[in-house]
Amino acid sequence: MPETFKAILVSRDAEKKQSVAITDLTEADLMEGDVTVAVEATTVNYKDGLAISGKAPVIRRWPLVPGIDFAGTVISSSHADWRTGDKVILNGWGVGETHFGAYAERARVKGDWLVPLPQGMSPHDAMAVGTAGYTAMLCVIALERHGIVPERGPVVVTGAAGGVGSVAVSILSSLGYHVVASTGRSAESSYLTDLGASEVISRDELAQPAKPLAKERWAGGVDAVGSHTLANVLSMTSYGGAVAACGLAGGMDLPTSVAPFILRGVCLLGIDSVMAPKTVRMEAWRRIGTDLDLQKLANLSTTIGFDGIIDAAHDIVEGKVRGRVVVDM
Ligand code: NDP
Repeated sequence: MPETFKAILVSRDAEKKQSVAITDLTEADLMEGDVTVAVEATTVNYKDGLAISGKAPVIRRWPLVPGIDFAGTVISSSHADWRTGDKVILNGWGVGETHFGAYAERARVKGDWLVPLPQGMSPHDAMAVGTAGYTAMLCVIALERHGIVPERGPVVVTGAAGGVGSVAVSILSSLGYHVVASTGRSAESSYLTDLGASEVISRDELAQPAKPLAKERWAGGVDAVGSHTLANVLSMTSYGGAVAACGLAGGMDLPTSVAPFILRGVCLLGIDSVMAPKTVRMEAWRRIGTDLDLQKLANLSTTIGFDGIIDAAHDIVEGKVRGRVVVDM
């Protein structure tokens, strides 16, 4: 009898009705790849919530094991870069969307998709960062490349109590920025100031339709929300500033005008973590290793077991999750 391992499988019936079940798989059930990994930790991202709840068409192959990121140990490899026993991280590349993902005790993927676990980080730590944190780091790097250094003025982080937001607040404050954290959860104010936010504002301040230009409030921002929130962030960005946009938790639209771009030279920096080239990923994970305080990371994450994934996935799309949810397999 081949060895079995537990997995979450999302299926669809003839009427395209989605169902989610915990099941047993064997390695023969896994998809093609040249590296097999024992998954030790994973996480619940907003996208995983959309996939499991079926609220957005994240899954594009049926049935599918969801889960867009994991950390673990290589158990077999025919890829030149990886050997049995190597500690690795995977984020994105369509894993958990078109390729069997992280919510199983084994994953088989392309070796080209993997990056090494940074020295001094456990699989649990890496997943406390997860795709949300790695995306936050990509946003910070994009702002730095645009010259948005702490001396330029405050930076705003929207969706601040969420995963991307919490890590962005932590990293930016560790780097010396004056961070303005925008949240819809006033009860999380002290959580955000503990992570390093200098000011906490209500998300309502950014929720109404934006004026073409408004009073300049910040030199830049990290936006996880989109829609009116991003439009307001842009219209409140000071001359020559930049905003890194990575999310759509508030909506996929962007009801803005060209005014911030052509009258203030503001730049909108698009951030994608899923297909980011390996060199970009390696740089982001290297910076996470140096710029993210592991104690703050512990404070912004909650740990659950495999059996808690489905509930956490529903909670995250309902905006009930604070910071990062780490799954110890
Ligand atoms: P979370 O759910 O953890 O965080 C999202 C936060 O956005 C919430 O905590 C909440 O923050 C805020 N929010 C939720 N709903 C609304 C709303 N209707 N209006 C305004 N604010 C809202 O998700 P993640 O941090 O994992 O992901 C954030 C976004 O980034 C998602 O859209 C996700 O898809 C995207 N993303 C994109 C990536 C990329 O490669 N571009 C990679 C990773 C994530 P608060 O309670 O503080 O107001």
